Amino acid sequence: MVMALITDPGILVLDEPVASVDAITKSYLAEVINEQVDAGKAVLMATHDLSFAPLCSDRCEVLYFESILESLPSHELLDAPRHPYTRALVRSFPMMERVKDLAGVRGVPPSTLSRSSGRSSCIFRPRCTQSIGVCSQKEPGQVSRRADGTRWDGGYVVCRRGGIVTMISVKDISKSYKDLRVLSEVSLTLDEGEILALVGETGSGKTTLAYLIAGTIKPDGGEITFRERGVFGYRPERVCKNGWDRLPVSKILDQSQVHGV
Ligand code: SF4
Repeated sequence: MVMALITDPGILVLDEPVASVDAITKSYLAEVINEQVDAGKAVLMATHDLSFAPLCSDRCEVLYFESILESLPSHELLDAPRHPYTRALVRSFPMMERVKDLAGVRGVPPSTLSRSSGRSSCIFRPRCTQSIGVCSQKEPGQVSRRADGTRWDGGYVVCRRGGIVTMISVKDISKSYKDLRVLSEVSLTLDEGEILALVGETGSGKTTLAYLIAGTIKPDGGEITFRERGVFGYRPERVCKNGWDRLPVSKILDQSQVHGV
């Protein structure tokens, strides 16, 4: 990079600028790149380092098998990815400064031998955690709105479902048993492809919250939706008739027809 700067170029094209460098050098290089931008230059950087990209870029384009699947502001790359592939990439990458699961991208990449000029389905479908029937019928186009119709501040995803879909939304839920307050204005979301653990000591409200989400008891206030429908609309007794603790997660997912819309 130093040699490239000697010629004072108007645009810098950097290919893996921080491969094999230590953390201190990485931080220094981020400063140098930002200085170049402050001096009125443009920078195009190719990197697989997800922690470095947001330090010195405004926008990220996430590529998969010859296509861009997501374009988003760099500051959202690690905390608010919108495409299932971007989220899986972030989950593949260990970072010292944050705790996160390392689920990675499931399955294997498509064979380079299968490259073709035309496609009839989503290229990410075999590895996607939320694919549905329509994903195999037509190649998706760019979508700049969330599944609920609201517009993102910038960027787009290439996804028939508008990016990562929220499966369960719990908003300001409260519950009391007579005079005993068990839950007070609890909110959470569970996205498709995620595993959410409710953690707390005995009596903290975990089981009550789970039963409320399953629809077996009613909240005193607040709102619970399952795939944007009221939770009581999906007949939870089908899911829970054998008891939460004895029903495998895969069975619960099957019975709630995750992939059957
Ligand atoms: S189009 Fe379907 S398979 Fe492709 S990323 Fe979106 S949900 Fe997944």
